[in-house]
Amino acid sequence: MSSIFLDGFYKAVFDACSDAIYVIEPQSSQIVDANTRAWLDLGMTREQLLEHSVVTLQNDVENEEHWGIIADEIVKTETFTFIGRHCHQDGTFFPVEVYTSVVEFEGRQLFISIARNLDLTTSQREEFRTKDARLTYALNEAADGLWDWNVATGEVFFSPQLKRMLGYLPHEMAPTLETWAESIHEDDRARVLGILDGHLSGRADSYNAEYKIGSRSGEYIWVRDRGRVCQRDDEGKPERVVGMCHDITHSKDLEDRLRQQASHDDLTGLLNRRAGYIHFKQQLSYAQRYQQQLCVCLIDLDHFKSVNDNYGHLVGDTVLTHFVDLMTRTLRKSDSLMRWGGEEFFLLLPNTDTESGLKLISQLKDKIKENPVSLEGRELNYTFSAGLAGFPCHSQSFDGLIKCADDALYRSKDSGRDLILISNDDSETEQKELF
Ligand code: GH3
Ligand code: MG
Ligand code: MG
Repeated sequence: MSSIFLDGFYKAVFDACSDAIYVIEPQSSQIVDANTRAWLDLGMTREQLLEHSVVTLQNDVENEEHWGIIADEIVKTETFTFIGRHCHQDGTFFPVEVYTSVVEFEGRQLFISIARNLDLTTSQREEFRTKDARLTYALNEAADGLWDWNVATGEVFFSPQLKRMLGYLPHEMAPTLETWAESIHEDDRARVLGILDGHLSGRADSYNAEYKIGSRSGEYIWVRDRGRVCQRDDEGKPERVVGMCHDITHSKDLEDRLRQQASHDDLTGLLNRRAGYIHFKQQLSYAQRYQQQLCVCLIDLDHFKSVNDNYGHLVGDTVLTHFVDLMTRTLRKSDSLMRWGGEEFFLLLPNTDTESGLKLISQLKDKIKENPVSLEGRELNYTFSAGLAGFPCHSQSFDGLIKCADDALYRSKDSGRDLILISNDDSETEQKELF
């Protein structure tokens, strides 16, 4: 079948060419013509190939938007080189190095891409069975991005896969150490450079770091980066360091989710009791160190069992989230509410005495009264009881404070509920002298 642009001798040259040649429509990335090598490499008929675009053929061009960025670059540069993977008809991929240039033909702008198949197992071309082609293949196919740093010049080679991992095009990312260092998230940068320095100075056997690095889109991805000095000068000073960088964003996200699940309550999103204990210990030692008061409060919803019995468990859950929602909207930034279990909550008010704590919790009580839960047109009112204790006036210890607050809560339940009481532990006067 003849080319739509060529005939005769040039058509024969086009089809005899040992590299695949594609004629591409710049806007849509549609393949408008291709030589025999192209459709043979892809395991397609010519007709099948002409139904494709760069977006569907080239595994490393993600979508039309990504193609738009590449097309702009092709127009800007004289010959654009892209190392990527072409999708074979059988669903496999093979590595290609693609050189693209722009031609004007009869008033129409077109891209001409010459794709060199780097797949050593299927390649017919002996000249590509060279060390460089194998290296390009390895760098292109490796799941990890490779970097190679010349310490004396500061130059760094970033492999095509490393650039792809960060969303960069082949000609982007200036090959310097600064490019890499400046891309590291500022929270991680000093630590990572310290780890690298530890290896260069011989304190650590290898460089091994996990950190966040900025991608082209501005988003950060998590990477595990490992490297080692592979060449030293006569005095033993590092000359060359080579390493691999692996995208671990997915496992980091999973780790974060598991950590969140282990420390937070599913229903309300609050810290659970286990994590709450740790938080309380930290807050208490902070208050001790800086000689600040700390108000602790145990809150328990009243007659909650009857809410479940009368309205069902789901409505019970709605009441719990309603309570947490109103509380968290009213509390100050430094305050923390934790789910202590069931319908019981633990509230920490740093730098607050029990009288101010009482005032704040009374306001919360009023808020709940003014904003009952609405249930399909009906309103559901609920109340809570609370017990307060203060550091250092009621106790200075972790267990002591919880016990004082618990006793006060018990008294408020015993005195008819819907009450907030302060611990009546009378050690107040002696403890106050501590400050
Ligand atoms: P009191 O005023 O003395 O505190 O009475 P109460 O009914 O609130 O206390 P009780 O300890 O008898 O009952 C607590 C109820 O809270 C029983 C339990 O089924 C319910 N509960 C605990 N956790 C949840 C939850 O996550 N969702 C719902 N819907 N109910 C819960
Ligand atoms: Mg209760
Ligand atoms: Mg209870």
